[in-house]
Amino acid sequence: RAKDSGRGQMRFYEPLMDEKIERTRDLGAEMQGALERGEFHLVFQPIFDLTGEQVLSCETLLRWTNRRYGAISPAEFIPIAEDNGLIVAIGSWVIREACRIASGWPTDVTIAVNLSPIQLRSANLPTTIMGALAASGFAADRLELEVTESVLLEDIEASLAALNAINRLKVRTTLDDFGTGYSSLSYLTKFPFQTLKIDRSFIADFEQSPASVAIVQTVIELAAKLGMRTVAEGVETQAQLDQLRRIRCDAVQGFLLAHPMPANMVSTMLAGAGVKAMRRS
Ligand code: C2E
Ligand code: MG
Ligand code: MG
Ligand code: MG
Repeated sequence: RAKDSGRGQMRFYEPLMDEKIERTRDLGAEMQGALERGEFHLVFQPIFDLTGEQVLSCETLLRWTNRRYGAISPAEFIPIAEDNGLIVAIGSWVIREACRIASGWPTDVTIAVNLSPIQLRSANLPTTIMGALAASGFAADRLELEVTESVLLEDIEASLAALNAINRLKVRTTLDDFGTGYSSLSYLTKFPFQTLKIDRSFIADFEQSPASVAIVQTVIELAAKLGMRTVAEGVETQAQLDQLRRIRCDAVQGFLLAHPMPANMVSTMLAGAGVKAMRRS
């Protein structure tokens, strides 16, 4: 591509590249005091059973609103936090805050928290988790930690040890974004996951590609045989939901059912104030 592009395009790209590097550096600097300034907050996206009526769980999603740069997406700031090491402190805050908030919710609802690979490999993780559970009184078996598969291959032994340590605390683990990256079915037997979350790219392909439906169906059947439950993420259309019902996925998450929302809206929703009404909005 670089060969095809004329000289003018080089002049166009360079400033953009510099701007991106500059922004990354500035966001890294702003991130230093962000926890102390209270710039982070959590939103929660409900995960439903197949009827779409019952909330089974809520995924915790981190938000950062910076005094200078405004709202920054996790897709942008998480990699920066991983590079500068702040992800450990920020991630610990997420676990504590999520447990604190969810301890006020009905006990049949679990919460899922995303873990960065760096957190998974940090020796302090079990202590952090136990501290968050003790401080909030939140039951260990209502907490699920999501890790993406890309993490696992980097150091199989260390990943396995960390996941087992989490499971020993009675905290459950979810393999997130399954099917992306260098996915391999052998992961499913090698690692102790209780839940498999199927990446939204497969769900998005449903309408155009019967092959995607077949793949997801096979994954669901395999997961069931291995004693794992399945969640489909990124469900945006009724047709996708109908397919997932037909192929017996256990749970669904996506904009069709509910967007990520602040904690107080989750409380209202769980208190029974019209789940149906809210999922249409
Ligand atoms: P993820 O864990 O796969 O989270 C799901 C993402 O998909 C969220 O984006 C959610 O808002 C979005 N989503 C949910 N339903 C739909 C849908 O129907 N359609 C589409 N197009 N998107 C949907 P978000 O909140 O921007 O988070 C992006 C990623 O950032 C997450 O992907 C996760 O990898 C990471 N992340 C978020 N919070 C945390 C955190 O506290 N710690 C760590 N380490 N990573 C986090
Ligand atoms: Mg996730
Ligand atoms: Mg995911
Ligand atoms: Mg994802």
